[in-house]
This record gives sequence, C-alpha cells and structure tokens, in this order.
Amino acid sequence: MKILVINAGSSSLKYQLIDMNGEKLLAKGLCERIGLDGRLTHKPLNGKPTFEQDIPFPTHKEAIEAVMEKLVSKEYGVVEHMDEIGAVGHRVLHGGSKFTKSCLVDDACEAAIKECFPLGPLHNPANLMGIKACQAVMPGTPQVAVFDTSFGMDMAPKAYIYALPYEYYEKDSLRRYGFHGTSHRFVSARACEISGKPGTKVINCHLGNGSSVSASIDGKCVDTSMGLTPLAGVPMGTRSGDCDPALLQFIMNKYGFSVDEMLNLLNKKSGVLGISGVSSDFRDLDAAAAEGNERAQLALDKFAYEVAKYIGSYAAAMNGVDMITFTAGVGENSSSMRARICGYLGYLGVKLDDEANGKRGSELKISAADSKVPVYVIPTNEELMIARDTLALAK
Ligand code: ADP
Repeated sequence: MKILVINAGSSSLKYQLIDMNGEKLLAKGLCERIGLDGRLTHKPLNGKPTFEQDIPFPTHKEAIEAVMEKLVSKEYGVVEHMDEIGAVGHRVLHGGSKFTKSCLVDDACEAAIKECFPLGPLHNPANLMGIKACQAVMPGTPQVAVFDTSFGMDMAPKAYIYALPYEYYEKDSLRRYGFHGTSHRFVSARACEISGKPGTKVINCHLGNGSSVSASIDGKCVDTSMGLTPLAGVPMGTRSGDCDPALLQFIMNKYGFSVDEMLNLLNKKSGVLGISGVSSDFRDLDAAAAEGNERAQLALDKFAYEVAKYIGSYAAAMNGVDMITFTAGVGENSSSMRARICGYLGYLGVKLDDEANGKRGSELKISAADSKVPVYVIPTNEELMIARDTLALAK
C-alpha cells in the first residue's frame, strides 16, 4: 500500500508519499504560505525533476489538490492514479488523555482533536484543517491521526502528575503529556531492535530546534522532558525549557508584560538564542564560540549540561540505562554536542569512540567497545512511523 503522510501547519503543509512495500519514499514536498499566496515544492524521488513554483493556496484544500495533481502528473508524478494511495496518515500534535494510540479519523476522533484545541492552540486546528482538506479531495480514502502525545500515555501517574492541587488534573486534564512522541517511539523501538534484550532501558535525546529527552523501557515511555506543552524540559533553540515559575511574575511585574508577551518571550526569545544573543541555530553558535564569543559558548555549555542532567535523572528513574541514543538535527549532526553531553556521563561508564563519533550519515554506534552503555546515533523518521501506524489501521 502507498501512504500519504501529512504534517499540516497553519500556513504550511509537509507531505511524503511512502510505498510501504519496502518502506520506500516515493516523493516529498512542501506547500507554503497557505492563505497568503502559496508556493509548492514537490520532489519526486524517481529521477523526475523537482517542481517549485508559486501556486495560489487560499486554503489547505487547494494545497492538497495541487499535491495530488503533481503526484499523478506525467512530468513530476510517482503514481499513475490517485487510487493507488491507500490511506493518509496525519501528524496531530495533541490527543489529550483520551487518545492513547493512533486512530482512524471518525467523528469521535475529530471531536477529540477539537477538544484539545486549548492544549495545542497553534497545531491542533491546523492539523484538523489538513484532515478536512484530505477528506474533501480524497473522499473514501481512510485517514489516520497519529498523535505526538500518545507515546507519553504510558507514563505512570507519578511521572505525569504536576505537584499542583489535584483538581487541575481532574477538571482540566493538566498533566505532563510530552511531545516529539512519534520520534521517541521510532528511535526507542529501533534501539530495542538493536539491543535485542527484553526490558531494554533507553534514554533518547531528540535534539533539534525543539529538544526533548525521553526514558523508555521496551519502547514504552517512562518519562519525557516536555510537559503540558512543548515549552518544558531542556533549553531549546528559542524556548526556555524548565525555569522557576516565579521568574514570570518578576519579569511581568517589572516590565509590564501581559501573559501573551511573557509566553512569547519564553517560546521565541529564550533558549540558546536568548543566552547567546547570536542565533538559535547550533551551527551559528559553534562558529561564534570558535571565534571566542563567550555567550555562544555559554549557551552551548548550558544546553549540554541540562541534557546531561536529564540523562542522569532518567538513569535514576529507570534504575539504569542500556542504551543512549541521539537523534534530530543537532543529535544526528553535531558530533561536538554529543561529545560535550557524553563528557558528563563517565560515572555511567559511557565512553565515546571519537573516530566513530566524528562520522556522519546514517545509523551509527559512537561508543567505544568497552563503554558500559552503548551510545548510538539513530536518525529519526517520524513520517515512516506515521505511515506504519496508518498502514496497520487502514488494513
Ligand atoms: P526541528 O526541531 O525544527 O525539527 P531539526 O531536528 O531539523 O529541527 O534540527 C534543526 C537544528 O539542527 C538547527 O538548529 C541546526 O542548528 C541543527 N543542526 C543541523 N546540522 C547541524 C550541524 N552539522 N551541527 C550542529 N547543528 C546542526
């Protein structure tokens, strides 16, 4: 079966078409500036040329129509007919506490996605728009919702409960949900496959522009660093990660910030960008630090230190760790950041193989032969995970 994977944002939509017979990527692309003017970049992977052009996209529906047209077109296509696409898998940010697994989109699923609008105000409405657009363009094709929060649904109450009056959990479902769940699920499942040992304890570091760390046993989440929202956990490109909640009161009072202004500061102006004043991109920070920029160096040090602290706390939570994995933009590409983080882990018996760590590319064991805990780079593939779930449900 061929599966279309959709990640719809409010003004953009990323897609991949995957042939599940061999899990082969056939085409991928991006619709941008939906609702403004519109631009489509479509890359077939069968040797045909890339299509890149402005196309008006008043809504997500026109964007999906343009994608469909390209997928079947003579010049840029990868399938003969739309009917070859057996199902569509949608990335949905928040499934709340009702949706513990991926599900076929029906009225109950749509209602749950809507119910979670307050918990994922930027993403859930856009994710639903993507679903509606596909339903309109491909009626009769099964649609599957894959929730970023479902990985976190295996956490025990002691891991997900906030130490606040219990009524806020009961009445408002305020708890730790965790995000990047599809990525953590993909990487920890692969780590378990590599280890081959039942009960494998994995600490996965998804380090990108947004970053989170997770602990899992046999691929089931024990704990994860993001919380009710993706603002919690380690510092990120522009997000603060964990900080003393009373800081908010201090800054808001002193500078007269509204709640929205404060959240904007925490989401968009903090993290390694906030500390360095240079950039949210780790390549820029590496370059600035190499030229002696002390704040860029401090941002890199702070990031590594906080990730290492999470690894330590998760090793404690699981009473040990069998494998540590790195994934996403920084985790897969920055050997210096991996070395910096692993530099804190000598007490766990972690030893890196510097030569292996310096290599680039696909899956990689980067720990030395005598490291007590193996360390791997495992490239994440959220789209493939979504396609696998979609295939299982659409069958
Ligand atoms: P997102 O969270 O947006 O999905 P990614 O996982 O794509 O982000 O990661 C993007 C980040 O990866 C960027 O901040 C960039 O700095 C970082 N990155 C990519 N390549 C490298 C590299 N070679 N060295 C350091 N950082 C890198």
